[in-house]
Amino acid sequence: MTRPHVVIVGAGLAGLTAALEAVDHDLQVTLLEARPRFGGGTWSFERKGLTFDNGQHVYLACCTSYRRYLERCGVTKSAPLSRLSIPVLQPRQDGGEPTVSWIRRSGLPAPLHLARSLSSYRYLSLGERAKIGWAALALRRLDLFDPALDDETFASFLRRHGQSQRAIDVLWDLIALPTINVRAEEASLLLAAKVFQTGLLANSDAADIGWSRVPLTQLHVEPALGILERAGASIRDRAKVSSMVLDDDARRVTGVVVDGETIDADAVVIATNAESVTKILPAAAGTDREGVDRLGSSPIIDVHLVYDQKVMDYRVAAGIDTPVQFVFDATEASGLPASDGQCLAISVSGADEEHGERPEVLIDRYAREMERIFPRARRATLVDAVVSREHHATFRASVGSQKLRPGVATAISNLVLAGTYTDTGWPATMEGAVRSGEQAIAQLMTNRAYLKGSEVEMSQREAS
Ligand SMILES: Cc1cc2nc3c(=O)[nH]c(=O)nc-3n(C[C@H](O)[C@H](O)[C@H](O)COP(=O)(O)OP(=O)(O)OC[C@H]3O[C@@H](n4cnc5c(N)ncnc54)[C@H](O)[C@@H]3O)c2cc1C
Repeated sequence: MTRPHVVIVGAGLAGLTAALEAVDHDLQVTLLEARPRFGGGTWSFERKGLTFDNGQHVYLACCTSYRRYLERCGVTKSAPLSRLSIPVLQPRQDGGEPTVSWIRRSGLPAPLHLARSLSSYRYLSLGERAKIGWAALALRRLDLFDPALDDETFASFLRRHGQSQRAIDVLWDLIALPTINVRAEEASLLLAAKVFQTGLLANSDAADIGWSRVPLTQLHVEPALGILERAGASIRDRAKVSSMVLDDDARRVTGVVVDGETIDADAVVIATNAESVTKILPAAAGTDREGVDRLGSSPIIDVHLVYDQKVMDYRVAAGIDTPVQFVFDATEASGLPASDGQCLAISVSGADEEHGERPEVLIDRYAREMERIFPRARRATLVDAVVSREHHATFRASVGSQKLRPGVATAISNLVLAGTYTDTGWPATMEGAVRSGEQAIAQLMTNRAYLKGSEVEMSQREAS
């Protein structure tokens, strides 16, 4: 029996998930990746004997599809979850140890699990703290199926519910910015509501937090490629798809073109980033390509600092009144022995301004900030530093962005889309990418049109 052949274009998390789902449905898979490396927006690089990730990646317990992906790859233990407990640090004018206030959950049911921590959040006045609950409860009641939520900014909603600018800056944006990658002032209320409802207001353990203790390539890419190879998938890097081949009446896709070569396909999943999809998606697919182009993107930069000694005791810390948004202890993942020093990754979301700056300027600025926050950094030697930047890190989750996100189905029954920019209901996250890959294959299995040839062959064999 000939197994239906699915070509998957793009090997980020969405494409890798689609490929794994496809082999699980006993489809023959070809995975094509334009770059010389796999993993898309999650990848690692070597420098002076250490390994750095392109950006610190974090997930929450509510990311159920992503957790299934980790399980499928057998790497759950490499990215353990811990109870939500994050110190929020403020540098002190006198140069002493930073002021600390914790965002942590208790064992109480949601939303009471955060009540204690927020009622003692020292960066807000008593009056401001008293009003947090009002906005949180209003956020919890929003209907995520109401399209009007996409027409308002998160900040405007917060102001309507009594939140001061300070509360937006030091509390709401502390959570919204790293998850949706634009500030509340610009963010679509719909995506912000999704984040807060799913991550913080529905279940008490939903925001328990995890990240990889090994390089991302080792976590996401190598195990997935191993599974695919064992299942007989064909995997190619440096294979940039330039177009789709359609049948005469443009109702079915019959293959893809790579470097002038046509690869035949019974079905195609385009699992690229939003910037690439419109270049190869045929008009017959019926997807609003201009809309996808209008989504735009939002950058993230990471400043990686390697010290000759430990300067931070926390595994992760957030900052206020400093450009350091979040800093992670990446020593273990980098391969640096703890006795030799500490490797820290400072993650800067919504980095529109920083993105264009020279690496030495950024390193100087963030190294100084670290000295302001952590007095021990003043005595330590910075032995290496590198900046990684991703201009198109995520789609731009501004007001109106939800309307521009296409579904995974297209007007061509054997051509589907996957990618974090598709309408998963989630922001541009690893969870969104994995969900889109799952949905793409589920859609193909529902359409079944692409199976036609193989089914005929199968019934002939069964008949004989
Ligand atoms: C620095 C950074 C930090 C982040 N932090 C977090 C975080 O903490 N938590 C979180 O959940 N998410 C985070 N994200 C977001 C997350 O990484 C992305 O949402 C996710 O990886 C996107 O996956 P994707 O498969 O949809 O797209 P991509 O990863 O962009 O993959 C698309 C792939 O398609 C390939 N491609 C494009 N065109 C073609 C073509 N014509 N032919 C063949 N291949 C093609 C590309 O080369 C790429 O490999 C972060 C992203 C970045 C960049």
